[in-house]
Amino acid sequence: MSDLSQTTFTLEDLRARAEGRGPIPAEVGLAVLGHPVEHSLSPAMQNAALEALGSKLRYAKIDCPPEQLAEAIDLARKAGFTGLNLTIPHKFEALNLCNELDDTARQLGAVNTLLFDGSRIVGFNTDGPGLVRAIREVFAFDLRDLRVMVLGAGGGAGSAAALQCALESCPRLVLVNRTEGKAHDIAAQAKKLLHTDRLEGPDDPVTVIPLEESALREQIGRTDLVINATSLGMKRTDPRLVPAALITPDLMVYDMIYRPAVTRLLEDAQNANARTANGLSLLLHQGALSLEIWLNRPAAVDVMRRALEQAV
Ligand code: NAP
Repeated sequence: MSDLSQTTFTLEDLRARAEGRGPIPAEVGLAVLGHPVEHSLSPAMQNAALEALGSKLRYAKIDCPPEQLAEAIDLARKAGFTGLNLTIPHKFEALNLCNELDDTARQLGAVNTLLFDGSRIVGFNTDGPGLVRAIREVFAFDLRDLRVMVLGAGGGAGSAAALQCALESCPRLVLVNRTEGKAHDIAAQAKKLLHTDRLEGPDDPVTVIPLEESALREQIGRTDLVINATSLGMKRTDPRLVPAALITPDLMVYDMIYRPAVTRLLEDAQNANARTANGLSLLLHQGALSLEIWLNRPAAVDVMRRALEQAV
């Protein structure tokens, strides 16, 4: 079989597979659809787990432009796939293509995992629950006990993180986004999910601030965990999101970026003796939860972690 970590299939390949022809091997019954998708580490992580669990199923990556998402999902179902992962830019559109949604997908307004159940398409979201597991693993804290600041709360990953914090009823939630209006939209959604008995003091439990030094300075002292969900930090030349002087040793800083492993934000946080972690643990745990949905059994998390560390 071709190395599924190295091969990116196309919609044309999926059409052929639905007609019983190559090049997608018959064992492939799981895949991630994205656009672009060639850099995805999910095939390496999922195939290592499938092998370790003794499953014959294999996982591929398929490039799918947004306008062809509905067709791609339909083809995968007809080809006998067990399910799919969805990544950029499909997580929102997929909501409308499911026959049934789990609670988290409905509450977060996004789907990253599909399960084919006969002719029915069931949508799940493992990004939010995956974040909860990741934070517990890397910082030994439950998200629900932390005062959280989400940088990039208006983006796909940031809005899922912010809404999961609301579902957890975190005692404080500060939303920051370059385009501030998007953070206000997410704040309005977050407030509907909060259990208001867990509020810290008389303040508004969800605060939106501009991405400006003075506003960050005012809020960061009342924050336990800073999550970077912006794409700033992927390039070495990217400017700082948070001035280094604002980071204190009592903070936990989680950067959803995992390539590079240490972003400038994490480097600044390490220099300030703050606790840090990158986004590899999120990738791991959302993937493990997806695998559990497809196979209905516990995933091989340690095998997946090792495969990811090797692949990255
Ligand atoms: P997205 O939907 O395109 O959102 C991008 C976010 O970054 C938006 O909030 C955007 O603000 C902000 N941003 C972009 N350029 C900026 C700049 N120059 N200054 C300030 N803010 C800027 O992307 P996404 O899917 O959420 O991904 C965001 C990051 O999370 C990426 O680095 C991605 O690799 C990472 N991620 C990691 C995982 C994981 O498993 N670890 C999963 C998903 C995503 P505006 O709204 O103003 O444009």
